[in-house]
Amino acid sequence: MKELYKLSVGLTLVSDVYNKAVELAKRRGIFWPSYEIYGGIAGLYDIGPVGTIIKNKIVKLWRKHFIGSTAGMVVEVETPMITPEKVFEASGHLKNFTDPVVQCNKCHKVYRADHLVEEILHKSFESFTADQLNSVIKENGIKCPSCSGDLGDVRYFNLLFETTIGPYTGERGFLRPETAQGMFTAFKRVYESYRQRLPVGIAQIGRVARNEISPRQGLVRMREFSIMEVEFFMDPKDESVPLEGIENVKVNVLKAQTKEQGRQDLDSFTIRELVDEKIVIHPWMAYWMARASQFVSDLGINEFYFEEKLPQERAHYSKQTFDQIAIVGGEKVEISGHAYRGDYDLSGHSRVSGQDLSVFKKYDKPMVVKKKSVIVNRQKISSLPEAKDIMKRISNATVEEVEEMLKKNVTVGSVPISSVVSIIEREEKVSGEKFFPHVVEPSFGVERSLYLVVVNSYRERKDRVILSLPKDLAPYDVAVFPLLEKGEIVNKAKDIYLNLSKRFDVLYDEGGSIGKRYARADEIGVPFDITVDPQSIDDSTVTIRDRDSWDQVRVKMDSLVDSLEKLFNGIELSTLGEKASSNE
Ligand SMILES: [Zn+2]
Repeated sequence: MKELYKLSVGLTLVSDVYNKAVELAKRRGIFWPSYEIYGGIAGLYDIGPVGTIIKNKIVKLWRKHFIGSTAGMVVEVETPMITPEKVFEASGHLKNFTDPVVQCNKCHKVYRADHLVEEILHKSFESFTADQLNSVIKENGIKCPSCSGDLGDVRYFNLLFETTIGPYTGERGFLRPETAQGMFTAFKRVYESYRQRLPVGIAQIGRVARNEISPRQGLVRMREFSIMEVEFFMDPKDESVPLEGIENVKVNVLKAQTKEQGRQDLDSFTIRELVDEKIVIHPWMAYWMARASQFVSDLGINEFYFEEKLPQERAHYSKQTFDQIAIVGGEKVEISGHAYRGDYDLSGHSRVSGQDLSVFKKYDKPMVVKKKSVIVNRQKISSLPEAKDIMKRISNATVEEVEEMLKKNVTVGSVPISSVVSIIEREEKVSGEKFFPHVVEPSFGVERSLYLVVVNSYRERKDRVILSLPKDLAPYDVAVFPLLEKGEIVNKAKDIYLNLSKRFDVLYDEGGSIGKRYARADEIGVPFDITVDPQSIDDSTVTIRDRDSWDQVRVKMDSLVDSLEKLFNGIELSTLGEKASSNE
């Protein structure tokens, strides 16, 4: 059953939380604009010490969902950022990886044309052509927002970063804008060295670069960033997809059809329904959308839907695309893309490289096929003056075309072709067929995921900030604090730190007031704090404090590992010991 519900379109913009989260990120070493001391460069960000740990945990979680739990179906590779021109000729990026730009005739400022008109007219102009955007600018009398000067013509700008491979007159090359081409060019090697059977997914996590025209949405649109993606190669005729365990996963979908009707309603489907009702072009699309749903939920982001792109909104290589849109801090942000690339890339690389990238599918048992061939009566034709012309006609034609000529009784000069040419049919045994595997591609941005996780986890409580990260993503599992800088207390705290470090990621901090240390730990999302106080010396107990509730309980030191294990398994803090009075 489909259930319909409306997403409130006029969401209150609480982008304030984005600004606050960015401030927190700078203050606590999560991320900040790169080259700050030189004024920064738009679209480039440093990931700080705390951010790097959280980022690595996001990547680890992604690997679990997209590689680890696929029973060996997906393998991971690493391929270079620097890419020769031929690759992007075959992939279509040289021609198609463009955005429309417009320049002010007076102050020479450059704008991304569709974004500029969008900002002024408050309507989406995604997928408008340069000509269409030109008309929109003229009709609405749009001027340069910066100096009110006239705007020039809208042109296309290619987003590939160009470079030279080798010195002086080296080969023309580019930084990759996606990791995908590395998997396509390595496909044959992986296929042959691995299992030599389909399906097989090739995953890659790596840096990419896009020369964005005017990046301005923080870590959402960057000029250099990391991608985690899978190119999943499969036989399009084989629809047996393992949906066990995921078929009842529910997803909300904004269908292209709904958008065409000018509506934004979401339909709810199970993964099984996406397949059965043919909402997806192939069952594997639904499989990866289920994985993506589980991954994004594990990031702590529970509000999201899949938006099907209209044909004109899709990338040049895609036959069907769903963007996974997360709703974080009241804003809709694309967190992943799911493209059905078909055989676009493998056939393109076969054509340009001259290498056969198709695979051979052996049938279970050989098939008998009827094969027609053209037979020429050589003896009869050799005596004809028209022989050369007749041979020319038929050697350029397919069997079917020759058959058609015979049916229509085509003549060359006055000679009917049928007098010297005939078609015979033979049975032949065929053991298999060659074809290009089709590709389904789920793709995530790493820094964008980090950004959304941070914004989504941002909380305020009594003028203080808490980063309420999912426990698996916290930079540290637990912090250990000696209440006072007294020898005995410090020694005990250090013992606890060393002991817990064997099992957990532990932060040790003895500087400043305990309240400040709690606040710092809360701001980077540490779920639990252990405090060693004077009572610890007397009765070998410590307090455990919960990041989100600030509640504290007192537990025996020798059951600390056990208590923490229980907390990470979701057991309530209050069940572990006596409530302790707060020492904040
Ligand atoms: Zn201007």
